[in-house]
Amino acid sequence: MIYQSGLDCRAKLELFSSMYFGRGSLDMLLIHSRFEEDEDEMRAYTEIVYGRSSSSAEAVIPKDRRLFSEKTARESAAIRSLCLAAEKFRKIPLPWGTLCGVRPAKMASRMRAAGFFAEEIRSQLEDVYFVSPEKARLAAEVAENEERPLSKVSPDGFCVYVGIPFCPSRCSYCSFVSRDMRSAGKYLDEFFTLLLEEISAGAKILSGIGMRCQSVYIGGGTPAVLSPEQTYRLCSHIMREFSISPDTEFTIEAGRADVLTAEKLRAAKDGGANRISVNPQTMNDRTLRLINRRHTAAEVVRAFELCRKAGFSNINMDLIAGLPGERAADFARSSKEVLALDPESVTIHTLYKKRAARMSEEAVSSADSAEVAKMLSEGYLALYESGYSPYYMYRQKNTIGNLENTGWSKKGYESFYNIAIMEEMTSIAAFGGGASSKAVLGGGRVERIFNFKEPEEYIRRFDEIIEKKKLLGELLDGRDRSGIKRDFDEDTE
Ligand code: SF4
Repeated sequence: MIYQSGLDCRAKLELFSSMYFGRGSLDMLLIHSRFEEDEDEMRAYTEIVYGRSSSSAEAVIPKDRRLFSEKTARESAAIRSLCLAAEKFRKIPLPWGTLCGVRPAKMASRMRAAGFFAEEIRSQLEDVYFVSPEKARLAAEVAENEERPLSKVSPDGFCVYVGIPFCPSRCSYCSFVSRDMRSAGKYLDEFFTLLLEEISAGAKILSGIGMRCQSVYIGGGTPAVLSPEQTYRLCSHIMREFSISPDTEFTIEAGRADVLTAEKLRAAKDGGANRISVNPQTMNDRTLRLINRRHTAAEVVRAFELCRKAGFSNINMDLIAGLPGERAADFARSSKEVLALDPESVTIHTLYKKRAARMSEEAVSSADSAEVAKMLSEGYLALYESGYSPYYMYRQKNTIGNLENTGWSKKGYESFYNIAIMEEMTSIAAFGGGASSKAVLGGGRVERIFNFKEPEEYIRRFDEIIEKKKLLGELLDGRDRSGIKRDFDEDTE
């Protein structure tokens, strides 16, 4: 029992304690904690001992305003006092304050739903949850911008995800399910044939229970490893099997410029794709070599132009902040070059710390938190100035500086798929290697079903893949149709 007052936020305190002192550190450190509250304020006090030193701190949250959630405000005070005490031993940037989950925008959305105005949301995030002013603005804006696309979510709707788990080579920071074509390319044709079969089986099951597809996303891996003929067959197969109308959002991740051709892009467009993602990650050739992406910035520009020529009027581009050897000026140059191409949306990711550490020594030394925070701030400013707004956001544990990943778009180009999956408001029928289906069942219940990761296993155990689709159908058939609405449960912030 940490707080005698009955405050029960042990898991959250443990999480923050582990950021400063490592996993399982809370019990060893904490010697005294207290929480008090009267009608004017909440006060949490923490005293810790580390090595031969001790440190104590108090955090106060005034109650001079309507609080969005008294429970989370109390927890926030407790976390804050722990972090302030821990700062004596180690400084850690906490741009998101005491919010420890992956979706701060969800908390902002919950505030909107509770009748808080934008200004109140920002001040609540700053003063109660100790979020920085820049991030509070970001969360409030994302909550506002995702509202219109989310209004389209139907209780009978679902998204289709198709995973192509092959890449021309492995990027050094990769965390996705993907195999190098040079060793696993021999499985591609058989995998592809079975993939079409899995899609047909899934479509039959889902249409049989009255569900309709609201969005398609083909990712990976690198879908552009498919031949033009395979690309057309896959896209048109999805369109036909799920009876998709041409205006339904259908994204294909073109991914790396080294395997894109005019023929593949035309095949994707003719097959039904209407949104495409070209992902440079950086426009710095030296960094591209360092991270083992075998294309140049000039090839990215050429790929972008090919997409336009193929008729894509909705193009996304991805950038990563914190790549090896990069400083803020490099990231600013990449942002500028990407924005000069005028894509409809841009996604900015923050490099995941452990991945940075797995790369080169240079990566570790260059990717310091303050520098990456600067990259994001300057990148966001450039996006605002070019007419983009943030529309979806998520956090991962262990990103450099505890920073976030954010999708930005021009008005009307917010990706339904990105928002819907982030908010867990719609089910996903996922096909292919490493794909995970998600059944949103109402009342906050979500079940996940995983396909096999490796192409060899996908092929060998394909019967089980079909059984998994049947299971998805059974789960969704029993869903609570009236209960599929935004899940505002308390522990997701
Ligand atoms: S292209 Fe994407 S999925 Fe493929 S190796 Fe690189 S990061 Fe991983």
